[in-house]
Amino acid sequence: MAYYNENTVLWLDGQLVKASEAKTDLYGQSLHYGYAVFEGIRSYRTAAGTTKIFKPVEHYVRLQRSAAAMNMPLNYSAEDLIAATYEVLAKNNLQDAYIRPIVYAPANMSFNLNTESYTAIQTWEMAPFLGDKLLRVMTSSFQRPNPKGFKIEAKASGHYVNSILASQEAKGKGFDEALLTDMNGHVAEGPGANVFFEKDGKLFTPATGNILPGITRATVLEICRELDIPVEEGHFTTRDLSQADAAFFCGTAAEVIGWQSLDDHAFPTPWKDTLSRQIQQAYKDKVIEKQTELVTI
Ligand code: PMP
Repeated sequence: MAYYNENTVLWLDGQLVKASEAKTDLYGQSLHYGYAVFEGIRSYRTAAGTTKIFKPVEHYVRLQRSAAAMNMPLNYSAEDLIAATYEVLAKNNLQDAYIRPIVYAPANMSFNLNTESYTAIQTWEMAPFLGDKLLRVMTSSFQRPNPKGFKIEAKASGHYVNSILASQEAKGKGFDEALLTDMNGHVAEGPGANVFFEKDGKLFTPATGNILPGITRATVLEICRELDIPVEEGHFTTRDLSQADAAFFCGTAAEVIGWQSLDDHAFPTPWKDTLSRQIQQAYKDKVIEKQTELVTI
């Protein structure tokens, strides 16, 4: 995948610089120890034709919280970062895009605090997900990190070694994606997405505490309220999930994506007949600011 070409520009601490000329330090604490924080954001071409970043304040506030949780200085307001992001999108001529801000540490081989950090914002084209593919998911042999060992609610780079291991394991065994449990064996989340399941007209999702509280997860909860769909946050087992009518992952990049199966269990209800499918449609409409037409099933 080509993330950039010779014309691409990125934002680096207030400057627009060519992606092909931007440099990072090989002695950086972030590269060696995974000590950095980042965000994953999307922008869309709206139904009206404008370019809109979806929930930019929520994402940049989470970046600030992630940086604070990691004791990293971050000297930009959410407002500054949103304005910078629109500038990068415009310079790169992008509407449907993935936006990757990262706050990283200077050269430092010790574990000591830094008095400064760098902030970059990169963008590349990403079309909205069409939503007809269903995932074959595998229960991972890896668990999510213990929240007593990590600031699990921060989007910190180092946490993603766990995600990479789980995702590579699942794909290596012929599945599309992994489902990870938490340190207590309860369903937690995917490597880069939260999980919901549906049973008898109701939605269920793992409570916060052992997961990244996703902005898409919050949007799905919002949609459930709007569509009058009951939803319960709690602690669930993979057995609960196997007995569900349907399940889906949700995240900024994944949007809302249904499951075909978990391990050797296929979900019985056709995706098109599920409440989950209605939520998927409502999400697709919301991100492009299109009025949702309610279809009853
Ligand atoms: N969990 C993990 C581990 C993630 O990496 C992501 C993606 N940021 C999510 C959940 C979903 O979060 P969001 O909806 O904010 O993208």
